[in-house]
Amino acid sequence: MYAQALATIEGYNGYGAEQGNKELRKAIVETIYTNTGITSDEIFISDGAQCDISRLQMLMGSNISIAVQDPTFPAYVDSSVIIGQASKFQEHTGKYNNIVYMSSGPENNFFPDLSSTPRTDIIFFCSPNNPTGYAASRRELEQLVEFAKINGSIIIFNSVYATYISDDSPRSIFEISSAKEVAIEVSSFSKLAGFTGVRLGWTVVPKDLCYSSGFPVINDYDPIACTCFSGASNVAQAGGLACLSPQGYKALQSTIDYYLKNAEMLVDTFTSFGLKVYGGQNVPYLWVHFPGSKSWDIFNEILENTHILTVPGRGFGYKGEEFIRVSAFAPREAIYEASMRLTNYFSETTPWLPKKLLMKLP
Ligand SMILES: *Cc1c(COP(=O)(O)O)cnc(C)c1O
Repeated sequence: MYAQALATIEGYNGYGAEQGNKELRKAIVETIYTNTGITSDEIFISDGAQCDISRLQMLMGSNISIAVQDPTFPAYVDSSVIIGQASKFQEHTGKYNNIVYMSSGPENNFFPDLSSTPRTDIIFFCSPNNPTGYAASRRELEQLVEFAKINGSIIIFNSVYATYISDDSPRSIFEISSAKEVAIEVSSFSKLAGFTGVRLGWTVVPKDLCYSSGFPVINDYDPIACTCFSGASNVAQAGGLACLSPQGYKALQSTIDYYLKNAEMLVDTFTSFGLKVYGGQNVPYLWVHFPGSKSWDIFNEILENTHILTVPGRGFGYKGEEFIRVSAFAPREAIYEASMRLTNYFSETTPWLPKKLLMKLP
């Protein structure tokens, strides 16, 4: 409807505000940031979270230190290499010298040990996490905010899977009181409403967030948004607004439930092979552990024998080595088919491990 109206004199729209359509900014506050105190002039509409991560990197510049979770969504490390924060890749560790990797595995319940984490200017944090599926609890996020406060760090919080949360974990860092003084939040319609190709996201920069000089970060982010970007597509924004209408939001919720049900079925499948499976509850991904194996070997073995694509955990960092990530973003029939193929393949072997992987065991 909106696209058709663009062909008429009354309905035509040219450049919009770079920060985004006012109605959409307001709708985001009213649906997603209720009870956080975030206001619509702190919301910057964008063409997606990935793009905003790079704009934030441009804001911060090359002369800063960063911490990332390990494993982590790759955009943080990659964009910091591009902007010149990270250098000296060490082949033997698979890490960059000047990035702090906050180890987040099953041994620490996927939440970093902050008492042994060095201070950095920026802390990239993603919850619920892609790839591990872990959603940090209120207590953990309070610890993270406190840690950033003491150190004078800025948290760049990624909440693109927030609507998939099925327990009482916070859906935004701004549910933690005083987070507005230390955090920026990046989010997106990509996983919320399948907008990966449409392209629509947003970033929240609270007015209370200041550099140590007392200068508000939002006063620096606004010119970046206006200079490096001419605003999100008006067609995409009209779509986003429709998604946040009561009717649209209800439809989104049922699609999200559908994918989470897919994830539950896949969890049952992998668990029945005796494998330890993480995630699948607050994100539509499973993080499957193959102790002692290499993620690319597992990826290849599954691909060659079942023609199913997974993602090798190593792509998310050093700590992803023994894992694969399995996505539940698929029609239900494909999930049935995948479960069947996996069961046929895995059940040929005892004790429920892939043949080659079994041979590697002592
Ligand atoms: C998919 C994904 C993104 C990409 O978001 P876009 O809005 O499509 O750019 C960002 N962060 C995480 C953690 C993701 O999984």
